[in-house]
Amino acid sequence: MTCCATELTRREQARIVARSIRSLIKETPALLHRYNRAKETIRAFRRPAFYEIETRCNLKCEGCYYFEGGDTWQINGNKPINEWQNFFHLEAERGVSMAYFVGAEPALAQDRLLAAAQHFPWGNIGTNGTIALNKDIPYRIGVSVWASDDKTDIQLRGASVFRKALKNYEGDQRAIMLLTVSKDTIGQVPEVARMCSDHGVELTYNLYSPTHSFLKKLAIGQQHDDRFFRFSDQNHSPIFTDYDLAKTRETLAATIEDYPDTVVYCHEYNDYMCQPGSRYTLDENGIALDCQSRIVNPMRYYTTDLTSRSVKCCTPDIDCSQCRMYSGGWSSRFIPTPQDVTNREAFIAWINIIDTLGRIFLYPRPFWLSPDSSQNSQTKREQVSA
Ligand code: SF4
Ligand code: SF4
Repeated sequence: MTCCATELTRREQARIVARSIRSLIKETPALLHRYNRAKETIRAFRRPAFYEIETRCNLKCEGCYYFEGGDTWQINGNKPINEWQNFFHLEAERGVSMAYFVGAEPALAQDRLLAAAQHFPWGNIGTNGTIALNKDIPYRIGVSVWASDDKTDIQLRGASVFRKALKNYEGDQRAIMLLTVSKDTIGQVPEVARMCSDHGVELTYNLYSPTHSFLKKLAIGQQHDDRFFRFSDQNHSPIFTDYDLAKTRETLAATIEDYPDTVVYCHEYNDYMCQPGSRYTLDENGIALDCQSRIVNPMRYYTTDLTSRSVKCCTPDIDCSQCRMYSGGWSSRFIPTPQDVTNREAFIAWINIIDTLGRIFLYPRPFWLSPDSSQNSQTKREQVSA
Protein backbone atom coordinates (compact mmCIF):
# COMPACT_ATOMS: atom_id res chain seq x y z
CA MET A 1 0.00 0.00 0.00
CA THR A 2 1.33 3.50 -0.82
CA CYS A 3 1.74 6.20 1.86
CA CYS A 4 -1.22 8.15 0.44
CA ALA A 5 -3.42 5.08 0.51
CA THR A 6 -2.35 4.34 4.09
CA GLU A 7 -3.12 7.93 5.08
CA LEU A 8 -6.55 7.70 3.44
CA THR A 9 -7.30 4.46 5.24
CA ARG A 10 -6.20 6.05 8.50
CA ARG A 11 -8.46 9.06 7.93
CA GLU A 12 -11.37 6.88 6.92
CA GLN A 13 -10.85 4.76 10.03
CA ALA A 14 -10.77 7.90 12.21
CA ARG A 15 -14.06 9.03 10.63
CA ILE A 16 -15.69 5.66 11.34
CA VAL A 17 -14.45 5.68 14.93
CA ALA A 18 -15.68 9.27 15.49
CA ARG A 19 -19.10 8.34 14.09
CA SER A 20 -19.34 5.31 16.40
CA ILE A 21 -18.33 7.40 19.43
CA ARG A 22 -21.06 9.95 18.63
CA SER A 23 -23.66 7.23 18.42
CA LEU A 24 -22.47 5.51 21.65
CA ILE A 25 -22.68 8.82 23.51
CA LYS A 26 -26.15 9.44 22.08
CA GLU A 27 -27.26 6.07 23.44
CA THR A 28 -25.62 6.68 26.85
CA PRO A 29 -25.24 10.44 27.45
CA ALA A 30 -23.61 9.79 30.85
CA LEU A 31 -20.48 8.75 28.93
CA LEU A 32 -19.94 12.24 27.55
CA HIS A 33 -18.35 13.54 30.74
CA ARG A 34 -15.90 10.62 30.90
CA TYR A 35 -15.12 10.92 27.21
CA ASN A 36 -14.38 14.64 27.54
CA ARG A 37 -12.08 13.91 30.47
CA ALA A 38 -10.28 11.26 28.39
CA LYS A 39 -9.77 13.83 25.60
CA GLU A 40 -8.33 16.28 28.13
CA THR A 41 -5.87 13.64 29.31
CA ILE A 42 -4.82 12.89 25.75
CA ARG A 43 -4.34 16.62 25.09
CA ALA A 44 -1.60 16.76 27.76
CA PHE A 45 0.42 14.41 25.53
CA ARG A 46 -0.20 16.30 22.29
CA ARG A 47 3.48 17.18 21.81
CA PRO A 48 5.82 15.03 23.87
CA ALA A 49 9.61 15.15 23.97
CA PHE A 50 12.29 13.11 25.70
CA TYR A 51 15.29 14.62 27.45
CA GLU A 52 18.25 12.67 28.71
CA ILE A 53 19.18 14.54 31.86
CA GLU A 54 22.26 12.63 33.04
CA THR A 55 24.71 10.07 31.71
CA ARG A 56 25.77 8.80 35.13
CA CYS A 57 24.02 6.37 37.44
CA ASN A 58 24.73 5.19 40.99
CA LEU A 59 23.45 1.64 40.26
CA LYS A 60 24.31 -1.29 38.01
CA CYS A 61 21.15 -3.17 37.08
CA GLU A 62 21.16 -6.49 35.24
CA GLY A 63 20.36 -5.84 31.55
CA CYS A 64 20.12 -2.04 32.05
CA TYR A 65 18.14 -0.35 29.26
CA TYR A 66 20.44 2.68 29.20
CA PHE A 67 24.01 1.39 29.42
CA GLU A 68 23.45 -1.86 27.54
CA GLY A 69 23.44 -1.44 23.80
CA GLY A 70 23.12 2.34 23.78
CA ASP A 71 26.02 4.75 23.48
CA THR A 72 24.59 8.05 24.72
CA TRP A 73 26.24 7.56 28.12
CA GLN A 74 29.52 8.38 26.37
CA ILE A 75 28.37 11.89 25.50
CA ASN A 76 29.98 14.77 27.32
CA GLY A 77 26.89 16.57 28.61
CA ASN A 78 28.63 19.15 30.78
CA LYS A 79 26.63 22.10 29.52
CA PRO A 80 26.28 25.02 31.95
CA ILE A 81 22.84 25.48 33.49
CA ASN A 82 22.08 28.67 31.53
CA GLU A 83 22.35 26.62 28.29
CA TRP A 84 19.82 24.13 29.67
CA GLN A 85 17.53 27.00 30.62
CA ASN A 86 17.69 28.51 27.12
CA PHE A 87 17.20 25.11 25.59
CA PHE A 88 14.06 24.35 27.63
CA HIS A 89 12.74 27.81 26.84
CA LEU A 90 13.06 27.10 23.10
CA GLU A 91 11.47 23.68 23.53
CA ALA A 92 8.49 25.22 25.31
CA GLU A 93 8.18 27.72 22.46
CA ARG A 94 8.14 24.77 20.05
CA GLY A 95 4.99 23.71 21.89
CA VAL A 96 6.22 20.76 23.95
CA SER A 97 3.40 19.91 26.34
CA MET A 98 4.77 16.78 27.97
CA ALA A 99 8.44 16.35 28.88
CA TYR A 100 9.88 12.96 29.76
CA PHE A 101 13.12 13.16 31.74
CA VAL A 102 15.19 10.06 31.19
CA GLY A 103 18.79 8.97 30.73
CA ALA A 104 20.72 7.34 33.43
CA GLU A 105 19.79 8.96 36.75
CA PRO A 106 18.03 12.38 36.55
CA ALA A 107 18.21 12.82 40.35
CA LEU A 108 21.97 13.40 39.92
CA ALA A 109 21.24 16.62 37.99
CA GLN A 110 18.30 18.23 39.76
CA ASP A 111 19.20 21.78 38.72
CA ARG A 112 18.28 20.73 35.16
CA LEU A 113 14.89 19.40 36.32
CA LEU A 114 14.24 22.63 38.23
CA ALA A 115 15.12 24.60 35.09
CA ALA A 116 12.67 22.51 33.04
CA ALA A 117 9.90 23.08 35.60
CA GLN A 118 9.85 26.74 34.58
CA HIS A 119 8.82 25.80 31.07
CA PHE A 120 6.71 22.65 30.64
CA PRO A 121 3.16 22.17 31.95
CA TRP A 122 3.55 18.40 32.31
CA GLY A 123 6.57 16.29 33.11
CA ASN A 124 7.47 12.73 33.99
CA ILE A 125 10.77 11.76 35.58
CA GLY A 126 12.19 8.25 35.47
CA THR A 127 14.36 7.72 38.56
CA ASN A 128 15.72 4.82 40.57
CA GLY A 129 14.49 6.46 43.79
CA THR A 130 17.71 6.25 45.80
CA ILE A 131 18.15 10.04 45.81
CA ALA A 132 15.12 12.13 46.82
CA LEU A 133 14.01 14.75 44.32
CA ASN A 134 13.66 18.37 45.40
CA LYS A 135 10.12 19.15 46.63
CA ASP A 136 9.92 22.06 44.16
CA ILE A 137 10.02 19.77 41.13
CA PRO A 138 6.30 19.62 40.24
CA TYR A 139 6.29 16.56 38.00
CA ARG A 140 5.20 12.93 38.16
CA ILE A 141 8.05 10.80 39.47
CA GLY A 142 8.18 7.22 38.23
CA VAL A 143 10.40 5.30 40.66
CA SER A 144 11.74 2.09 39.19
CA VAL A 145 11.31 -0.95 41.47
CA TRP A 146 12.60 -4.40 40.63
CA ALA A 147 11.98 -6.49 43.75
CA SER A 148 10.42 -6.48 47.21
CA ASP A 149 13.20 -8.18 49.12
CA ASP A 150 16.75 -7.03 49.63
CA LYS A 151 18.32 -10.25 48.42
CA THR A 152 16.74 -10.04 44.94
CA ASP A 153 17.17 -6.27 44.81
CA ILE A 154 20.89 -6.66 45.47
CA GLN A 155 21.15 -9.49 42.96
CA LEU A 156 19.33 -7.54 40.22
CA ARG A 157 20.50 -3.99 40.93
CA GLY A 158 23.52 -4.29 43.17
CA ALA A 159 21.87 -2.49 46.13
CA SER A 160 18.85 -2.33 48.44
CA VAL A 161 16.99 0.11 46.23
CA PHE A 162 13.29 -0.33 47.02
CA ARG A 163 13.57 0.27 50.77
CA LYS A 164 15.56 3.43 50.19
CA ALA A 165 13.01 4.64 47.63
CA LEU A 166 10.10 4.00 50.03
CA LYS A 167 11.83 6.12 52.67
CA ASN A 168 12.49 8.91 50.18
CA TYR A 169 8.97 9.01 48.77
CA GLU A 170 6.70 8.00 51.66
CA GLY A 171 3.43 9.93 51.28
CA ASP A 172 4.77 11.92 48.30
CA GLN A 173 1.88 12.35 45.88
CA ARG A 174 4.21 13.08 42.98
CA ALA A 175 5.68 9.59 43.20
CA ILE A 176 4.47 6.36 41.70
CA MET A 177 6.48 3.17 42.16
CA LEU A 178 6.97 1.46 38.83
CA LEU A 179 7.57 -2.23 39.46
CA THR A 180 9.17 -4.00 36.53
CA VAL A 181 7.75 -7.48 36.90
CA SER A 182 9.98 -10.22 35.52
CA LYS A 183 9.83 -14.01 35.53
CA ASP A 184 11.78 -14.01 38.81
CA THR A 185 9.66 -11.51 40.68
CA ILE A 186 6.04 -12.41 39.90
CA GLY A 187 5.65 -13.86 43.40
CA GLN A 188 6.91 -10.63 44.98
CA VAL A 189 4.19 -8.42 43.49
CA PRO A 190 1.69 -8.70 46.42
CA GLU A 191 4.42 -7.81 48.91
CA VAL A 192 5.48 -4.76 46.88
CA ALA A 193 1.83 -3.65 46.76
CA ARG A 194 1.48 -4.09 50.52
CA MET A 195 4.66 -2.12 51.22
CA CYS A 196 3.59 0.70 48.92
CA SER A 197 0.18 0.79 50.59
CA ASP A 198 1.82 0.95 54.05
CA HIS A 199 4.01 3.86 52.90
CA GLY A 200 1.21 5.82 51.20
CA VAL A 201 2.74 5.72 47.74
CA GLU A 202 1.07 4.61 44.52
CA LEU A 203 2.20 1.65 42.44
CA THR A 204 1.99 0.66 38.81
CA TYR A 205 3.59 -2.05 36.67
CA ASN A 206 5.96 -2.46 33.79
CA LEU A 207 6.67 -5.87 32.25
CA TYR A 208 10.28 -6.92 31.73
CA SER A 209 11.32 -6.67 28.08
CA PRO A 210 14.78 -7.81 26.99
CA THR A 211 17.26 -5.75 24.98
CA HIS A 212 18.93 -7.05 21.82
CA SER A 213 22.28 -6.90 23.62
CA PHE A 214 20.96 -9.02 26.47
CA LEU A 215 19.41 -11.57 24.07
CA LYS A 216 22.69 -11.75 22.17
CA LYS A 217 24.66 -12.42 25.34
CA LEU A 218 22.26 -15.23 26.25
CA ALA A 219 22.44 -16.68 22.73
CA ILE A 220 26.25 -16.81 22.59
CA GLY A 221 26.55 -17.88 26.23
CA GLN A 222 28.68 -14.88 27.07
CA GLN A 223 30.69 -14.94 30.28
CA HIS A 224 29.26 -13.03 33.20
CA ASP A 225 30.75 -9.71 34.25
CA ASP A 226 30.41 -7.50 37.32
CA ARG A 227 28.38 -4.85 35.53
CA PHE A 228 25.09 -5.46 33.66
CA PHE A 229 25.29 -9.20 33.01
CA ARG A 230 25.93 -10.91 36.31
CA PHE A 231 23.81 -14.07 36.53
CA SER A 232 21.50 -14.79 33.57
CA ASP A 233 21.98 -17.63 31.13
CA GLN A 234 19.87 -19.51 28.60
CA ASN A 235 18.26 -21.61 31.33
CA HIS A 236 17.60 -18.82 33.73
CA SER A 237 16.83 -15.19 32.93
CA PRO A 238 14.10 -12.63 33.73
CA ILE A 239 12.40 -13.29 30.35
CA PHE A 240 8.74 -14.44 30.51
CA THR A 241 7.41 -17.68 29.09
CA ASP A 242 3.72 -17.83 28.08
CA TYR A 243 3.04 -19.60 31.37
CA ASP A 244 4.73 -16.76 33.31
CA LEU A 245 2.62 -14.21 31.48
CA ALA A 246 -0.59 -15.97 32.50
CA LYS A 247 0.64 -16.08 36.10
CA THR A 248 1.58 -12.39 35.93
CA ARG A 249 -1.85 -11.47 34.62
CA GLU A 250 -3.54 -13.26 37.52
CA THR A 251 -1.20 -11.78 40.12
CA LEU A 252 -1.49 -8.19 38.91
CA ALA A 253 -5.28 -8.51 38.62
CA ALA A 254 -5.48 -9.61 42.27
CA THR A 255 -3.53 -6.57 43.46
CA ILE A 256 -5.83 -4.21 41.51
CA GLU A 257 -8.67 -5.59 43.63
CA ASP A 258 -6.76 -5.89 46.91
CA TYR A 259 -5.15 -2.42 46.87
CA PRO A 260 -7.53 -0.12 44.98
CA ASP A 261 -6.11 3.04 46.60
CA THR A 262 -2.52 2.08 45.85
CA VAL A 263 -2.37 0.16 42.58
CA VAL A 264 -2.86 2.33 39.51
CA TYR A 265 -3.46 -0.25 36.80
CA CYS A 266 -6.53 -1.59 35.03
CA HIS A 267 -7.81 -5.00 34.04
CA GLU A 268 -8.30 -4.04 30.40
CA TYR A 269 -4.63 -3.16 29.93
CA ASN A 270 -3.45 -6.07 32.06
CA ASP A 271 -5.44 -8.58 30.00
CA TYR A 272 -4.00 -7.22 26.78
CA MET A 273 -0.36 -6.92 27.86
CA CYS A 274 -0.14 -10.41 29.35
CA GLN A 275 -1.25 -12.22 26.22
CA PRO A 276 1.47 -14.30 24.55
CA GLY A 277 3.13 -13.15 21.34
CA SER A 278 4.18 -9.77 20.04
CA ARG A 279 1.97 -6.89 21.17
CA TYR A 280 2.72 -4.96 17.96
CA THR A 281 2.64 -5.33 14.21
CA LEU A 282 6.27 -5.60 13.12
CA ASP A 283 7.90 -4.50 9.87
CA GLU A 284 10.42 -6.64 7.97
CA ASN A 285 13.19 -5.45 10.32
CA GLY A 286 11.26 -6.39 13.42
CA ILE A 287 10.40 -2.78 14.31
CA ALA A 288 6.93 -2.07 15.73
CA LEU A 289 4.86 -0.22 13.16
CA ASP A 290 1.99 0.65 15.46
CA CYS A 291 3.88 1.63 18.62
CA GLN A 292 3.11 5.23 19.54
CA SER A 293 6.35 5.50 21.51
CA ARG A 294 8.33 5.64 18.27
CA ILE A 295 10.26 8.91 17.99
CA VAL A 296 8.74 10.33 14.83
CA ASN A 297 8.19 13.97 13.99
CA PRO A 298 7.11 16.13 15.85
CA MET A 299 8.27 13.99 18.79
CA ARG A 300 11.98 14.45 19.55
CA TYR A 301 14.62 12.79 21.68
CA TYR A 302 17.50 14.88 23.08
CA THR A 303 20.74 13.77 24.64
CA THR A 304 22.71 15.67 27.29
CA ASP A 305 24.64 17.66 24.68
CA LEU A 306 21.21 19.19 23.87
CA THR A 307 21.10 17.83 20.35
CA SER A 308 18.27 15.75 19.00
CA ARG A 309 18.91 12.17 18.04
CA SER A 310 17.20 9.84 15.67
CA VAL A 311 16.32 6.81 17.79
CA LYS A 312 13.61 4.19 17.55
CA CYS A 313 12.09 5.09 20.93
CA CYS A 314 13.26 5.95 24.45
CA THR A 315 14.43 2.34 24.97
CA PRO A 316 15.88 1.72 21.50
CA ASP A 317 17.80 -1.46 22.25
CA ILE A 318 14.68 -3.36 23.33
CA ASP A 319 13.48 -6.03 20.94
CA CYS A 320 10.07 -4.80 19.69
CA SER A 321 8.86 -8.37 19.21
CA GLN A 322 9.19 -9.00 22.97
CA CYS A 323 8.39 -5.49 24.14
CA ARG A 324 5.89 -5.05 26.97
CA MET A 325 7.31 -1.76 28.20
CA TYR A 326 4.78 0.48 29.88
CA SER A 327 5.82 3.50 27.79
CA GLY A 328 4.97 1.93 24.43
CA GLY A 329 2.04 -0.05 25.80
CA TRP A 330 0.08 2.85 27.29
CA SER A 331 0.91 5.44 24.65
CA SER A 332 -0.27 3.10 21.90
CA ARG A 333 -3.81 3.30 23.33
CA PHE A 334 -4.32 7.05 22.85
CA ILE A 335 -6.21 6.62 19.60
CA PRO A 336 -9.30 4.42 19.90
CA THR A 337 -9.40 1.61 17.35
CA PRO A 338 -12.60 0.41 15.63
CA GLN A 339 -12.63 -2.50 18.14
CA ASP A 340 -12.66 0.03 21.02
CA VAL A 341 -15.97 1.46 19.83
CA THR A 342 -17.84 -1.64 18.70
CA ASN A 343 -20.17 -1.41 21.71
CA ARG A 344 -20.66 0.37 25.01
CA GLU A 345 -18.53 -2.09 27.04
CA ALA A 346 -15.58 -1.81 24.66
CA PHE A 347 -15.80 1.99 24.73
CA ILE A 348 -15.91 2.06 28.54
CA ALA A 349 -12.88 -0.25 28.58
CA TRP A 350 -10.97 2.24 26.37
CA ILE A 351 -11.99 5.15 28.62
CA ASN A 352 -10.78 3.16 31.65
CA ILE A 353 -7.42 2.72 29.96
CA ILE A 354 -7.08 6.46 29.28
CA ASP A 355 -8.14 7.30 32.86
CA THR A 356 -5.50 4.95 34.23
CA LEU A 357 -2.87 6.25 31.84
CA GLY A 358 -3.57 9.82 33.03
CA ARG A 359 -3.19 8.76 36.67
CA ILE A 360 0.10 6.97 35.93
CA PHE A 361 1.82 9.68 33.91
CA LEU A 362 0.36 13.04 34.98
CA TYR A 363 0.83 14.94 38.20
CA PRO A 364 -1.54 17.89 38.32
CA ARG A 365 0.65 20.72 39.61
CA PRO A 366 -0.94 23.62 41.52
CA PHE A 367 -1.87 26.17 38.88
CA TRP A 368 0.20 28.96 40.45
CA LEU A 369 3.25 26.82 39.70
CA SER A 370 2.34 26.46 36.03
CA PRO A 371 4.88 27.87 33.59
CA ASP A 372 2.46 30.47 32.23
CA SER A 373 1.60 31.80 35.65
CA SER A 374 4.93 33.12 36.92
CA GLN A 375 3.83 36.74 36.36
CA ASN A 376 0.61 36.28 38.28
CA SER A 377 1.53 33.66 40.85
CA GLN A 378 1.05 35.97 43.84
CA THR A 379 -2.36 37.15 42.62
CA LYS A 380 -3.50 33.60 41.94
CA ARG A 381 -2.42 32.37 45.36
CA GLU A 382 -4.39 35.23 46.87
CA GLN A 383 -7.45 34.29 44.80
CA VAL A 384 -7.24 30.72 46.05
CA SER A 385 -6.97 31.65 49.70
CA ALA A 386 -9.77 34.27 49.44
S1 SF4 B 1 18.89 2.67 37.64
FE1 SF4 B 1 18.30 2.67 35.47
S2 SF4 B 1 20.02 3.67 34.40
FE2 SF4 B 1 20.75 3.09 36.44
S3 SF4 B 1 21.73 1.10 36.07
FE3 SF4 B 1 19.61 0.73 36.77
S4 SF4 B 1 18.43 0.50 34.88
FE4 SF4 B 1 20.39 1.45 34.34
S1 SF4 C 1 8.54 0.99 23.02
FE1 SF4 C 1 8.91 -1.18 22.58
S2 SF4 C 1 7.63 -1.67 20.79
FE2 SF4 C 1 7.79 0.55 20.92
S3 SF4 C 1 9.50 1.04 19.54
FE3 SF4 C 1 10.32 0.87 21.63
S4 SF4 C 1 11.03 -1.25 21.81
FE4 SF4 C 1 9.66 -1.14 20.01
